Amino acid sequence: MQVLVLNSGSSSIKYRLFDDHANGLLLRARGLVERIGESTGRAEQVVVAQDGTTSKEADDAPITDHAAGFRWIVSRLESAGLADDLGAIGHRVVHGGSEFTAPTVIDEAVIARIEAQVPLAPLHNPANLTGIEVARQLRPDLTNVAVFDTAFHATLPPAAYRYAVPERLLTEQGVRRYGFHGTSHAYVARRATAALGRSEEECKLVTLHLGNGASAAAVDGGRSVETSMGLSPLEGLVMGTRSGDLDPAVIFHLIREAGMSPEEVERVLNRESGLLGLCGDNDLRTIEDRAAEGDETAQLALDVYVHRIRKYLGAYAAVLGRLDAVVFTAGVGENSDTLRAAICADLDVLGIRVAAERNDGQRAAKAPDGVVAIHAEDSEVAVLVVATDEEREIAEQTLLAIRT
Ligand code: AMP
Repeated sequence: MQVLVLNSGSSSIKYRLFDDHANGLLLRARGLVERIGESTGRAEQVVVAQDGTTSKEADDAPITDHAAGFRWIVSRLESAGLADDLGAIGHRVVHGGSEFTAPTVIDEAVIARIEAQVPLAPLHNPANLTGIEVARQLRPDLTNVAVFDTAFHATLPPAAYRYAVPERLLTEQGVRRYGFHGTSHAYVARRATAALGRSEEECKLVTLHLGNGASAAAVDGGRSVETSMGLSPLEGLVMGTRSGDLDPAVIFHLIREAGMSPEEVERVLNRESGLLGLCGDNDLRTIEDRAAEGDETAQLALDVYVHRIRKYLGAYAAVLGRLDAVVFTAGVGENSDTLRAAICADLDVLGIRVAAERNDGQRAAKAPDGVVAIHAEDSEVAVLVVATDEEREIAEQTLLAIRT
């Protein structure tokens, strides 16, 4: 059977197709339909042959809506001979609220429950729902499964998920920490413990998902016990364009003193802050290049970014009570040796020592199994770089849901 994984955004659909093989999931195609609804659209697909060689095809033409995007995807998979045995679609859904703690086969009632989470994730869930609706309309023969970014963090204890606000805000408004990037944290935590040759049950890890969005998680015995994102993906680490932590009073100050509307404040904190707000760029490669050329604003942005991560690392070591490994993943974590070195510098207090010769130039995706150890021989804590694969995790969770 084949499993299609869809990640539907407001103007894009990312997808991957996996073959469920005796030896595990085989990636057969990946693609992206983007600028949906705009005057110029683009769609591309990379087909992965059995021997691992790839071939790419692309179309530059307007894509009117998500339905047109979905039709493009299915027709390209069919013409590549890859959709003969398509059995299920796994959908990434950002917010499951307290409702969803596991991958869930989608029916009308589930759609209504996902819709009920929209107030918690107005920037994300509507696009995920569009993808689900289009897939159900155009391919009613397939089983659709929702895999939630929040689900892995459903194991957070109350001390970690409660905000110190009146209980009615939790019961009536759902105000609590949910956490996101769950499929990535779960996947890299599992890969890391396997690479260490240890069981998940005995390991205490901090996983650092550092991409354009960024979050940290403390994972104890394979379960998430603390994470940096909260009610929404805005809390926590400094991100490409999101502020991460700030004093909530900043929001009232901006509304009262600067006359900004709540929507404007939301936009500034989500889209104009983070690295972009600090230095005018959000692509870390550009910022590192600027800093290397002596640009002080770019260096300050990196300093704030690194400082925040180190603060969380120390806090999560305290939460866990012992640290076995730190795991770096996602665009920045997997690729930037300089940031990994800066984050781990002078952390003897936590038993963390990175070996420069193991870290320099290291990229997880280039390693045969996507895992690289960068800690020094005498480091008490393992430091691993693990290539994340959220789509594979979603495909696995999708199969799990339809088989249970
Ligand atoms: P993601 O959201 O996981 O795709 O990560 C995107 C972020 O990873 C962007 O800020 C990129 O600049 C960063 N990134 C990707 N490749 C590299 C690299 N080689 N060195 C530093 N940062 C990188």
